[in-house]
Amino acid sequence: MMNGRMMDFPLTLTHLMERARRFFPETEVVSRAPDGSLHRHTWAQVYGRTAKLAHALTRLGVEPGERVATLAWNHHRHLEAYFAAPMMGAVVHTLNLRLHPNEIGYIARHAEDAIVLVDRSLLPLFEQFAASVPTIRHVVVMPDSGPAPEGRTDYEALLAPERDDFEWPKLDENAAAQICYTSGTTGNPKGVVYSHRSSVLHALAACLADSIGVSMHDTVLPVVPMFHANAWGLPHACAAAGARVVFPGPKLDPESLLDLMASERVTCAAGVPTIWLGILALLDQNPKKWDLSRLRQMVIGGSAAPASMIDGFQERHGLTVTHAWGMTETNPLGTIARVKPSIERAGDKGKTLQVRASQGFPVPFVETRHCDDTGKILPWDGKTMGELEVRGPWVAASYMGDEGQDRWAKDGWFKTGDVVTIDPEGYVRITDRSKDVIKSGGEWISSVALENLLMAHPAVLEAAVFAGRHPRWDERPIAAIVVKKGMAVTEAELAAHLESRVSKIWMPDAYVFLEQIPRTSTGKFLKTRLRETYGGMLEKAAEGR
Ligand code: ADP
Repeated sequence: MMNGRMMDFPLTLTHLMERARRFFPETEVVSRAPDGSLHRHTWAQVYGRTAKLAHALTRLGVEPGERVATLAWNHHRHLEAYFAAPMMGAVVHTLNLRLHPNEIGYIARHAEDAIVLVDRSLLPLFEQFAASVPTIRHVVVMPDSGPAPEGRTDYEALLAPERDDFEWPKLDENAAAQICYTSGTTGNPKGVVYSHRSSVLHALAACLADSIGVSMHDTVLPVVPMFHANAWGLPHACAAAGARVVFPGPKLDPESLLDLMASERVTCAAGVPTIWLGILALLDQNPKKWDLSRLRQMVIGGSAAPASMIDGFQERHGLTVTHAWGMTETNPLGTIARVKPSIERAGDKGKTLQVRASQGFPVPFVETRHCDDTGKILPWDGKTMGELEVRGPWVAASYMGDEGQDRWAKDGWFKTGDVVTIDPEGYVRITDRSKDVIKSGGEWISSVALENLLMAHPAVLEAAVFAGRHPRWDERPIAAIVVKKGMAVTEAELAAHLESRVSKIWMPDAYVFLEQIPRTSTGKFLKTRLRETYGGMLEKAAEGR
């Protein structure tokens, strides 16, 4: 073999932040505070404050590899922590503020968090679990809603005396940079430990034109929380590209987000479907109220974006949805639904929408396959269902503490738990998470497909389909429905809507009408709750007969 003769240059986050400071010092990082006011910094200021934070953390005794946790909304201080801890050789650990305090406590203990940077507005939550985490040495209050209370260390006071530059250590690119826990839908939450290298490569992949395509011309609004899979890597990608960033803070209702997108001329926003369902409904009611002419795409993922939503945004408002798939374990970007030129040329609107509503095909350096229960690799025929497996440089190789080793196949591929088909072009289509598949008398019914169809009904705002226990068929689908404001729809109408589109076996046995579908900590439909509450209703009905 002949060796290449190129420099061995480590892929670290330090380079991304230094680049943003050097080439985009005036580009803004905007944050909205809980009171709605906007704070404007620049990448130069964010850099300076990152350095100050690194000095302050050094003064607090933070050692290489130690965990600096955050319990915070999306804002510039959180961004500073995102970079300061990893760049000084420590590890930032984003705590999910939507979990139960006991769960957050478990996660903080498991990660052995040493320092916690907590939003003032979240102190009451923090105090509910703080005492259960013996490793915490210091608590720093980020004053998002007024200065730290008496006796607490205030972030701004801590940074004030420090220098705004830092001799960043030379790091190994494989050093841990960040930890994020999965939400633990099966068993305890598991820690995914990203390296500098994986985060950098992921950021570059997010910047590719046929991926998210983050560029210096963008103003990016990460609606997705910074504790949910690194805000999908967007903070890193924005630093790499020199993009302008707008952080929404805690105001995540449709109206606040639309105001922010219009006033800050956002070009690229990203979040889970539940957020965008609300936004689409509000836009439909007030189609002229907001000027979104700058918005080039909304990146939607985390659960399936219904085709009717993708189409609704495009047809009624001229807005483009980019559908993407990923997981905490994949940093998260895995596949993205870009339409290949050959499909575009064919000009078949229906097929194009089908492709845009698929989970897409992998970005460079992510590889996909799907397998049956025995591990046999299945054909890419667009029909055969199996569990999606992935590998790549930003896919986890193990969890913290080596838990959950059964999630990796013998040859190292990561088993996603998603049931998919893959078509000959490589487009992945998720039919379900394996735990949500409805197994009815030997047939598998896709809850995602039914939800997509139900959400295409003009009166339906949200639909979640889940398994009800059934005395004869084991499981049968039940549909939870949220009706749009000011509209009405009956069970019979919904059944009629589905009838022509699915086989009889797929028709839901029951409908429940709700004010809102319960949400997970990351804003997805919480089907376990629906199963707990309504999963027995078919059995009861059968007994009653
Ligand atoms: P959580 O357990 O909180 O849902 P993740 O965000 O890591 O944590 O969830 C990853 C899972 O989300 C995937 O395995 C998949 O089931 C689902 N998912 C992500 N993106 C999509 C998408 N575009 N379409 C359908 N499901 C998706």
